Amino acid sequence: AQDKRGDVPIGPGRLADGTHIPLLANLGSVDGIEKAVEAGAEGVGLFRTEFLFLDATSAPSVAAQYAQYSKLLRGFPGKKVVVRALDAGADKPLSFLNDAKEENPALGLRGLRALRATEQILRDQLTALVRAESETDADLWVMAPMVSTAEETTWFVNLANEIGIKTAGIMVEVPSAAILADRVLRDAAFASIGTNDLTQYTLAADRLLGTVSSFQDPWHPAVLTLIAEVGRAGAALGKPVGICGEAAADPLLAVVLVGLGATSLSMSPSAIGDVRAELAQHTREEAQRLAAEALGADSAKGAREAVRAALALHN
Ligand code: PEP
Ligand code: MG
Repeated sequence: AQDKRGDVPIGPGRLADGTHIPLLANLGSVDGIEKAVEAGAEGVGLFRTEFLFLDATSAPSVAAQYAQYSKLLRGFPGKKVVVRALDAGADKPLSFLNDAKEENPALGLRGLRALRATEQILRDQLTALVRAESETDADLWVMAPMVSTAEETTWFVNLANEIGIKTAGIMVEVPSAAILADRVLRDAAFASIGTNDLTQYTLAADRLLGTVSSFQDPWHPAVLTLIAEVGRAGAALGKPVGICGEAAADPLLAVVLVGLGATSLSMSPSAIGDVRAELAQHTREEAQRLAAEALGADSAKGAREAVRAALALHN
């Protein structure tokens, strides 16, 4: 099978120098499994579990969750599957986890904060995941959303390990977690950067608000600088650093992200072919050079232009 450009066969994501950059799928339900497999996804980099329960009025049972996770893990035998603990709040409120009366829900009791306030819901979710994993040979990784402090990492990883999750990590999508990545990652097995929220919080622009949507651009050098910080910390600590926000689906930005230290990329299955084709055209050294160009710009537009100009010069 060939991807859209016809010159890169469906297979593992690779740079021109052979470096393996796994290309993973973002999924919000088990319905997307087939498309992800067809696109050649090497596993799942973000399974958004809150999407399963958006209409639920009470917390889902362990049995109801187990049924979903079991289907998911069976869809990817022998592959890595990264499941995110319920990320409730702001753009995706869950009635059983969130208080609808907050004035600034994006800055409120959301993500891991909401789970800590209702610990049994998280315990049930982790229990369902452990049970589903025990019957498959998928490689289950579980991560916490909206982590902002090292203490939160420690709390989540300890609880996940206690319940039987072997690989527990965190999402980096709050600037504080990126700035102190060397400390926030210490107890985590891995990091996955959520560029949608990281951009929202870095530029202080609500990702749902049309009037400020021009700020929601992950090419912004302020966002890239934070990603570089996480890449550096991950490399120093020997921990994988994935990207699971929309940024990974932009082929040229995907190359820049690899240059900043991303070790895997997760995206909607429809984007995998184009990203695979673009990665195949650049070496790691070139990706790093392009990343340096983007970091040195003073705007998102400037970063895009600098990278395109550098490419035009070399080709
Ligand atoms: C992100 O914030 O980039 C992310 C991947 O999570 P979500 O879009 O679900 O908030
Ligand atoms: Mg997010």
